[in-house]
Amino acid sequence: MKECTLYLTLARGYVDRDEITRMDSSALAGARSAEGARFLIVSGDSVAVAPGAGSGELEVLKLDRNAASTWGSYNAVYLGRTGTTRYFACDASGAEGQFDFRPIRLWAHLFNEVDTALAVSAVAVLAWQRTARFCSECGAELTLRFTGWDKICENGHISYPRIDPAVIMAIHDQDDNLLLGRNTAWGPGRYSVLAGFVEAGETLEAAVRREVFEETRIPVNKLEYFGSQPWPFPRSLMLAFQGWTDATERDIAVDGKEMAHAHFFSRSEFRSQLIAGAIRMPSPTSVAATLVQTWLGESFAHMLGQHE
Ligand SMILES: [Zn+2]
Repeated sequence: MKECTLYLTLARGYVDRDEITRMDSSALAGARSAEGARFLIVSGDSVAVAPGAGSGELEVLKLDRNAASTWGSYNAVYLGRTGTTRYFACDASGAEGQFDFRPIRLWAHLFNEVDTALAVSAVAVLAWQRTARFCSECGAELTLRFTGWDKICENGHISYPRIDPAVIMAIHDQDDNLLLGRNTAWGPGRYSVLAGFVEAGETLEAAVRREVFEETRIPVNKLEYFGSQPWPFPRSLMLAFQGWTDATERDIAVDGKEMAHAHFFSRSEFRSQLIAGAIRMPSPTSVAATLVQTWLGESFAHMLGQHE
């Protein structure tokens, strides 16, 4: 088994967010105009990658201040630092065709760890900058403040990037079969672990149990926290769990509206159906893929005999 089956792809990497610089307008301006500053180029859910990308690892493009000046480097949002290098993100929406943009949900598994952390933060904070236009307290228009990480309205209310917590869970029966479901909105053959948003006033554990019961009528007993990763499409934080139930296949009941089909797969059944192309799995950057591959004990690519 290769290690890649065990980590949460978008949770890899660490960048010092360096709040001291971020919160100091003159330090921040100095950091932006420094020779060593590096700028990511972002468009929607995509980041530009360096030219000459082969089939293996992809490098996220990081321009110097001169090359990035066309893309608003003077007010680029500060992502943080590694050592003495400080990184910023420029919103270059509309610059398609000028860069090799890659949607991070499809490509970030080929980025190195630091590039992943930078790209995920860049996409998340710029999505918030674009969409948070009005104060949620009084409805007045919001103005971006110098940090890039907060906005203020004329009545002094401050807004920060919002995150929507969502739970996602691998539920196992007593024989270690895995519960997978097919949403009615998905194409044929696409299966995944169950997931859903946490409701107001709800604990994560209650959300896991509620979602599994609503979608399949399966009660969950023991739960263990697995890990988390940002999913900024547009603003989720995925909180992953593993859970166990005494229920069996006969207890599954789906509503046919949201959930078309749910089934406890054995490993051998899952393998043969995936190889036959009868079922399809979610993107390799997703928590769902990591949870399923962890249960399986190998990566999908390895199982399908593909190059990793
Ligand atoms: Zn306000």
